[in-house]
Amino acid sequence: MQLGQVLISENQIADAVGKLAGRVSRDYDLSRIVLVGAMDGAVCFLSDLMRAFAQPVDVTTVRMRRYDGTHGGEVTVSWLPLRDRIEGREVLIVEGIVDTGETCAVLSERLSELGAASVDICALLDKPSRRTHDIKATYIGFEVPDVFVVGYGMDYNGAYRSLRDVCVLEGGESELN
Ligand code: 5GP
Ligand code: MG
Repeated sequence: MQLGQVLISENQIADAVGKLAGRVSRDYDLSRIVLVGAMDGAVCFLSDLMRAFAQPVDVTTVRMRRYDGTHGGEVTVSWLPLRDRIEGREVLIVEGIVDTGETCAVLSERLSELGAASVDICALLDKPSRRTHDIKATYIGFEVPDVFVVGYGMDYNGAYRSLRDVCVLEGGESELN
């Protein structure tokens, strides 16, 4: 396993974050929106996106984990926001990468159960070739091929999360953790 090429640079990411914030601002009343960052992978994206809006936005986090590290492993929720943060709100899930779509599908369902008025997805990266769940992600920064990526919040077994660029991990299987 070794760190490969830069797939998306720090500058490209900054540009995309600004554009995504612009699109969200045009589509939503920002005083009604709540950003729900999917930890830990979205930590950098959430932190940059929330500060890219021209006015304050409400922000909270959720944590989803695979029950085990294997394909198709059950997605479990480590923590969710309280109902009073979500009920009646326009929810925007902020996710680092959408792969099979299962995490976002489960999360959307849980947020709807908490009374969200609407649930949409903003993901920095999208790996559409591996999709098994029919989810709607209105806001996507970049489409990526079927490679395992690390950096800008995304890890491999806890490593590489603090890299500024999104890089390819050579020899990394597309397996979730
Ligand atoms: P999904 O549930 O859509 O299959 O997977 C989404 C989650 O899997 C992401 O939140 C992320 O934690 C992890 N994931 C999927 N693809 C990658 C990847 O290429 N690199 C990293 N670091 N994590 C990934
Ligand atoms: Mg992870």
